[in-house]
Amino acid sequence: MILGGGFGGIYTALYLEKALRKRDDFEITLINKENYFVFQPMLAEVVSGNIGILDTVSPIRRMLPRTDLHVRDIESIDTKQQTVTTTPGFRQHPSVIHYDHLVLALGNVTDFRGLRGLPEHAIPFKNLSDALYIRSHVIHVLEEAAIEHEDNLLRQQLLTFVVAGGGFSGVEVIAELNDFVREVVRNYPQIDRKEVSFVLLHGKDRILPELDEKLALYAQKILVKRGVDVRLNTRLKAASSEEAILADGTRIPTRTLISTIPSSPNPMIDALDLPKERGRLKADCSLLVEGTNNVWALGDCAAIPMPDGGVCPPTAQFATRQGKTAAHNIVAAIRGGEGKAFKFKELGKLAALGHRSAVAQMFGVNISGFFAWFMWRTIYLMKLPGWGRRLKLAASWTLDIVLPPDLVQLKLTNTTGISHEHFEPGEEVFRQGDIGDRIYIIASGHAEVARGENGLEAVLARLGPGEYFGEMALLNRTTRNATVRCLEPLDVLSIHKREFSVLAANLPAMRESFERVMEQRSTGFSS
Ligand SMILES: Cc1cc2nc3c(=O)[nH]c(=O)nc-3n(C[C@H](O)[C@H](O)[C@H](O)COP(=O)(O)OP(=O)(O)OC[C@H]3O[C@@H](n4cnc5c(N)ncnc54)[C@H](O)[C@@H]3O)c2cc1C
Repeated sequence: MILGGGFGGIYTALYLEKALRKRDDFEITLINKENYFVFQPMLAEVVSGNIGILDTVSPIRRMLPRTDLHVRDIESIDTKQQTVTTTPGFRQHPSVIHYDHLVLALGNVTDFRGLRGLPEHAIPFKNLSDALYIRSHVIHVLEEAAIEHEDNLLRQQLLTFVVAGGGFSGVEVIAELNDFVREVVRNYPQIDRKEVSFVLLHGKDRILPELDEKLALYAQKILVKRGVDVRLNTRLKAASSEEAILADGTRIPTRTLISTIPSSPNPMIDALDLPKERGRLKADCSLLVEGTNNVWALGDCAAIPMPDGGVCPPTAQFATRQGKTAAHNIVAAIRGGEGKAFKFKELGKLAALGHRSAVAQMFGVNISGFFAWFMWRTIYLMKLPGWGRRLKLAASWTLDIVLPPDLVQLKLTNTTGISHEHFEPGEEVFRQGDIGDRIYIIASGHAEVARGENGLEAVLARLGPGEYFGEMALLNRTTRNATVRCLEPLDVLSIHKREFSVLAANLPAMRESFERVMEQRSTGFSS
């Protein structure tokens, strides 16, 4: 079982499928949040529209025809029972899957916890939905700025774009945004180009610490020349809906704050009782997690030793090669045979700077400018999975030379955990034994609460408008111990446990009232 469908997980499955091609006595299961694989190095170009929304992603089912894909969130991992539990889908049945070998390739996350206002107001830049959200948001603020003529401070906030983190992803996203906004602002006669500003915040004394100093300084010079205000030795401390607040107290008025830092371990990895090094799973050079004989780790979530000391860097280059080693060693562990130690020497590093320029360090040689950019595009184009996608992208890049960037704003509605739901008579809102992940408040209609025991079902209660149900499993963190069935057309407000926990934590009176009702009900019936 492979957890995570990024570079590490997908390449492990690809190599496993290849190695086990002629056998039918094995199963490969891959669990991932999305049904597609994202080619992250190209995400910055999605923000500017240089790459179409779907051109950086590939459907996992097509890439891995012999793998059983579960598109679900992983909820917990139990390495003692050798099981993985995923969140419920349309029906709320718990899904617990047993494994023989477990591959952990869950990557890392951008975690704003503990940074005042960042969880609410900073935008991460990690996956496709972040890139799409940023693009849509940037066009939105431009549209607002075009019609805002009274409030100068608001205009300044709308036209100031701040990115925190001067590593690869921070540099690439600000470079693309800078290019995009300065280009499309021509279509907004109400906005003066001089009003637009871009700020890159970086905590160290030079950006791109992964690169040779000379090359990083070149990149810095290029960004400054194109109008990016690069602030070094500067840390982002907090944020509000109107400002980015720096550690030295400076306040930058902005409505667009993107942060690529801090990078933290995936909470699923954090929760595991396995040896770790700075939050990454400690694996040996065969990629086996220390102290285990069937748990393998790779990619950004693993600390894998390099032959010459240190641990492998968290890059796609390493994750894909580690996938090959993991697949080989898992097959060797099952069939018997010689395992392999992970060995790989980095081929090079590339960062795009927008405006047809880039910096590259290839086989120890530094390259910059147009040639580096051309190399960047060619290398990543060839690495993109599937010829169809490569062709489409090559055609779209060629057309971009003559066509202006697209300005369409896709309005993406933010999904919240609170929704209205309707049920018809006879339908079940949830079933006994289901996972308790929501609470329901009845707006109209009636439902009955029934519990089954020894093959017999007893009706415990009848509920109507203004009453709620589902709180018991949520507060006690258990599965449902009764079924709720509709007696007549039923409209409910359903609240996900995430939102319910926030409400319960911040409104003690509400929690107490829920607990009181729960107490009364537990003597009569349970839900
Ligand atoms: C914007 C950006 C640009 C980059 N550019 C480059 C570059 O140019 N070159 C380079 O070498 N590297 C680059 N990287 C780094 C590279 O993408 C990562 O090192 C690589 O993706 C790591 O692979 P991974 O498999 O460990 O993790 P990931 O690729 O992050 O995959 C983890 C997967 O696990 C899934 N997942 C996580 N938690 C759960 C859960 N609870 N339930 C279900 N699924 C879950 C995620 O959805 C994801 O699909 C870039 C990264 C970013 C963000």
